[in-house]
Amino acid sequence: MTSNVQSIYDLDFDQLCEWLIAAGQPSYRARQIYEWLYKRAAASFAEMTNLPKDLRGVLTEHFAIGPLNSVAVAQGTEAQKHLVHLPAGGEVECVSIRMKGAPTFCISTQVGCNIGCVFCASTVDGCERNVTAGEIIQQVITLQLATERPGNIVFMGMGEPLFNFNNVLTAIERLTDKRAFGLSPSRIVISTAGIVPVIHRLAEMRLGVELAVSLGGSTDRQRARLMPGVARWPLEELMAACDHFTRANRGQPVTFAYVVVEDVNDSFDDARRLGKLLRGQRHHLNLIPLNPTPHCKLRPPSRDRLHAFFQECRKHGLNVSIRRSKGADINAACGQLRRRHAAKA
Ligand code: SAH
Repeated sequence: MTSNVQSIYDLDFDQLCEWLIAAGQPSYRARQIYEWLYKRAAASFAEMTNLPKDLRGVLTEHFAIGPLNSVAVAQGTEAQKHLVHLPAGGEVECVSIRMKGAPTFCISTQVGCNIGCVFCASTVDGCERNVTAGEIIQQVITLQLATERPGNIVFMGMGEPLFNFNNVLTAIERLTDKRAFGLSPSRIVISTAGIVPVIHRLAEMRLGVELAVSLGGSTDRQRARLMPGVARWPLEELMAACDHFTRANRGQPVTFAYVVVEDVNDSFDDARRLGKLLRGQRHHLNLIPLNPTPHCKLRPPSRDRLHAFFQECRKHGLNVSIRRSKGADINAACGQLRRRHAAKA
């Protein structure tokens, strides 16, 4: 056991080469170490049997490696959620969600969140800090060792990825680097509450990743009530940024997540306004019935009402589906396990 705070996953390939050269090692060791770290998800340097023993010792002295410590694990029928402790401080949630093929990993980008969505448990105590790129990668390693290699990575866990953009970009580089995870960028989704200026930057980067936007309401008023932290960007500006993303990225559609809240944003007028808002925007609209949390009195609509809202959305030409929660049985909605754990402690 070491008390190293620097995670080996914080070093990119060139930085690892530099470190090795400074330590008097040939740079080809970087390729070998990368292979162990990312292709084989090694949990310790001791496993790296093609490295000289003294190098393994020096690496062990200097860097943290392997899975994060899971403070709590919730196993559901379709998802496995970990509450992990970050050695540099704080706890975040990450989830492996079972799919037909390889699982989808849902990863956190901040310890807490400061957007203040009234329905979301992650935001109750605000945002403590950004998660580093290495800590993002370590969440992936933790889930991979607990389940299997991921098919998709979604930045939909705790926090707002576009408020931690540089670290998310560094992590994406590692996830798509053929020497590391080698995932196709199209298998990565960034989900944002709608940070307009950063969506414009992301659009121009043409990374090939997917964009998901949490809409929350069909009017600026509803959004201000449900998602106060993004109220400064009106829907009109948000839609212009989404249009920019689609046009800059070869017509790629944007996925819109709409948390449906009884008597707040589930009227036929809302469906009509959504139809108008998304007209001309290549989209997929996901209706997510609110997952109730103890800190908030809002309720999801009844099944019938949700279905009627869905039909009305279709009537207005929307490409819509209802997203069934795969994690409801294990408190998998954003930040819920962390809150439950904090309440018990
Ligand atoms: N900050 C980013 C990513 C984290 S939230 C974003 O807002 O997209 C990920 C998704 O979980 C968002 O679509 C959010 O609206 C949804 N969500 C959060 N709390 C929820 C709850 N209690 N019930 C249903 N969906 C919830």
